[in-house]
Amino acid sequence: MLIVRVNAQTQRAEYIWYDGNEGKPEKGLMFNEMRSKTKCIPKAITSMNPKDFPSWSFDGSSTGQAEGNNSDCILRPCFICPDPIRGGDDVLVMCDVLDPDSVPHVSNTRAMLAAIINDKVKAERPLFGFEQEYTMLGKGGAHPYGWPIGGYPAPQGPFYCGVGNESVYGRELAEAHMDACIKAGLTISGINAEVMPGQWEFQIGPTGALETGDQVMVARWLLHRLGEEFGIISTFHPKPMKGDWNGAGAHTNYSTESMRQDGGMKAIEAAIERLSKTHIEHITQYGSGNEQRLTGAHETCDMDTFKYGVADRGSSIRIPLPVQLAGKGYLEDRRPAANVDPYVVVRLLIKNTLL
Ligand code: ADP
Ligand code: MN
Ligand code: MN
Ligand code: MN
Repeated sequence: MLIVRVNAQTQRAEYIWYDGNEGKPEKGLMFNEMRSKTKCIPKAITSMNPKDFPSWSFDGSSTGQAEGNNSDCILRPCFICPDPIRGGDDVLVMCDVLDPDSVPHVSNTRAMLAAIINDKVKAERPLFGFEQEYTMLGKGGAHPYGWPIGGYPAPQGPFYCGVGNESVYGRELAEAHMDACIKAGLTISGINAEVMPGQWEFQIGPTGALETGDQVMVARWLLHRLGEEFGIISTFHPKPMKGDWNGAGAHTNYSTESMRQDGGMKAIEAAIERLSKTHIEHITQYGSGNEQRLTGAHETCDMDTFKYGVADRGSSIRIPLPVQLAGKGYLEDRRPAANVDPYVVVRLLIKNTLL
């Protein structure tokens, strides 16, 4: 019998990337846009510095990122964290995608964000809090997790931040996911059960511009990966159940140094005034299928209207009540859909309020 000795130093590095498909809502509920593969590194790299990890490549023709006759795409490590599932020296390696000539791939929205971060942006130290809603699906994927087979649960009401076996479905995955995010060292700021049963939210932030996108991507990957263990598929579809059920969004909370200082409300109002003029640019990039969610019902503002207000959950931009009371803080952009690319939201907010 041949015994292969595994080098105790061998490190498993999970190279993760975003395929740029934004979840293809037209393809149905069961899809996701995260990809990954494992690299065994004979001598563990323990610096946690992405520059110390080798670039890699993948077949872009299998991810919708290249044609078959010239299909290699490059993975460039950009964010490293401990792998909370494998443990030890193993790591998760978030990558951005380059063409073979090292130019950012058209799907590389991270590079587009990095390109606009100049000294003016840095001086304002922008921070983001990303509320990632998602819907758990049972095996087979036709129905939210925990819903009666071939039927419906009680109407919405008792489920948001609920407790109890009759109203909360899938807490085991939501808890395991939060644990994994904490062990990975991500800045997760909380979780809650959502308005539609089987729907949940986790929040990443407050984090800097690139950091927000990187951490949201890793957190999404962890959610899908842990779903394999629990037999639960999670979808970021903006409106997984038609009818009188809430859709799934990704409210993005945003602040700058000027907004956080005493009297910051002036800067918040100035930013909202600017955002009112670029509504269409945002709305067209805030997630595909978002028109199914932004109807004006179910705690949203309709897609064609730009409205802001204090504590108003039917607005496009909300100023949270504690922010109004303190006269400083942050604003909440309620428009992004759950399947939005976080690097895009962050770029548009910075570009259209600071540049
Ligand atoms: P909601 O009341 O809309 O459900 P959440 O508590 O889910 O709000 O999310 C609020 C998010 O805003 C959290 O991720 C939090 O970390 C983030 N946040 C708090 N302060 C700031 C700030 N100054 N700038 C940006 N984000 C912030
Ligand atoms: Mn929330
Ligand atoms: Mn929510
Ligand atoms: Mn919110």
